[in-house]
Amino acid sequence: MARRIFHGFSLLAGIIFMLTLPPATLKSQTPTQGGTLDLLQLTAEAQTWLTDLIRINTSNPPGNELEAAKYIQSVLQKENVPAEILEMTPGRGIVIARLQAGPLPDSSRALLLLAHLDAVGVDRAGWSVDPFAGTQKDDYIYGRGAIDDKGMVAANLAAFIGLKRSGTRLSRDVIFLADDDEEQGGNASIKAVIERYWDKIACGFAINEGGNVVLKNGKVQSVAIQTSEKVAYNVMVTATGTSGHASIPQRDNPVVHLAAAVQKAGTLETPLHLLTMTRRYFEQLASVEDEDIAKWIRALDTSDRADLAALRLAAMNPVWNSMLRDTIAPTELTAGVRANVVPPQASANLNIRLLPGNSIQDVIDQMQKAVNDPQVKFTVQPDAGPSAPSSSITTELYQTIERLAPRQFPGAVVVPYLSTWATDSAYLRLHNVQSYGLVPFPLSEADILRMHGNDERIPITSFRVGIDFLYKAVHEFVTK
Ligand SMILES: [Zn+2]
Repeated sequence: MARRIFHGFSLLAGIIFMLTLPPATLKSQTPTQGGTLDLLQLTAEAQTWLTDLIRINTSNPPGNELEAAKYIQSVLQKENVPAEILEMTPGRGIVIARLQAGPLPDSSRALLLLAHLDAVGVDRAGWSVDPFAGTQKDDYIYGRGAIDDKGMVAANLAAFIGLKRSGTRLSRDVIFLADDDEEQGGNASIKAVIERYWDKIACGFAINEGGNVVLKNGKVQSVAIQTSEKVAYNVMVTATGTSGHASIPQRDNPVVHLAAAVQKAGTLETPLHLLTMTRRYFEQLASVEDEDIAKWIRALDTSDRADLAALRLAAMNPVWNSMLRDTIAPTELTAGVRANVVPPQASANLNIRLLPGNSIQDVIDQMQKAVNDPQVKFTVQPDAGPSAPSSSITTELYQTIERLAPRQFPGAVVVPYLSTWATDSAYLRLHNVQSYGLVPFPLSEADILRMHGNDERIPITSFRVGIDFLYKAVHEFVTK
């Protein structure tokens, strides 16, 4: 039933997106089970929520997410939905609300809508607008968190409120969670939320950030649903040697040995490794990619040219390179206390991202072999991310999104996505949650790259069309 109801609306939304008609042409009344929902009105309200959330500075550290949590609580209160705020550490909080399907909750069927309230900091000098003003310019809302992840907070909130307003008869509970401390993963993060309050958010399915609706030449090319993610490690590389007067340098100067080690580790090409999910990602992408790329994707399936194809693809796109191998990125250097003193030690941090299932010791062995220097040692830091199993691409939720996406965005392919970055989903997956990363807004590569960077912004049309898409996917899944 939902399919029929939504069909006309999807086409319209697709057309609206591809052209530049204002979102005001969105069909305003969408009938749903149990009533009608004014989606146009809802997306307009969501725009206000997003702007208001950007104006609450939740740069992490320190985060101060409690104020944003309280704001959301007040929005939900107006809808007569009780929302609970949990203060994780002083000033840092999360907000949870639930729409119940029946008197007895079945957590294995429940859907969690997850997004984080904190954002990374800003380098104000690099911004053309105030990053915390929620400035609207042309078709954009600017601000830190506009995409990552306040846009998603507002979209989840809209989908959740939409279900309430429409009086949708639910077949499973829907839980809204806006959490904190995602960007730093400290003691207020999802790990702590799960440890302390799992009973409040227990679920079998989740939608979170992690994958993107990718816009190319003004048209949606692919809808990437994140099903797994790489595992982050920090490894300290340390060189030691003789400290002394800089006027009498010796061969064992640790700064020299460290520099050589960083150069070798930082340029090391780890072996290519095509995971089943990544193979599927490329296969799906082949139908919408340019022929010079598609031909190499097709070659992945040949016995004689697969290795060459992976090599070519890795060279074409740094993201693909990172999806195909473990990566090593030197990020911090520490050495010396005086300009004229050779220090006894010099060190660097290597940020390493492993493909799921790979071992950090293997990478260290490769680096040790390449560096081949007894003065240099590698130490794994204790802050590694979790290694979680992938979410399945045969669940009802994945397939619902897979079915709806091409209707919303004609011509787009749906691809399972291994993200190179970490998200809260890994912790959910460790709790048997089928968690999917899907930021529903059509975004160009250039806008995606502004996340964590300067002038982060979201196109307003994309924001509203994305909410429409998310609402439909959620609605279909929670009425099943
Ligand atoms: Zn994020």
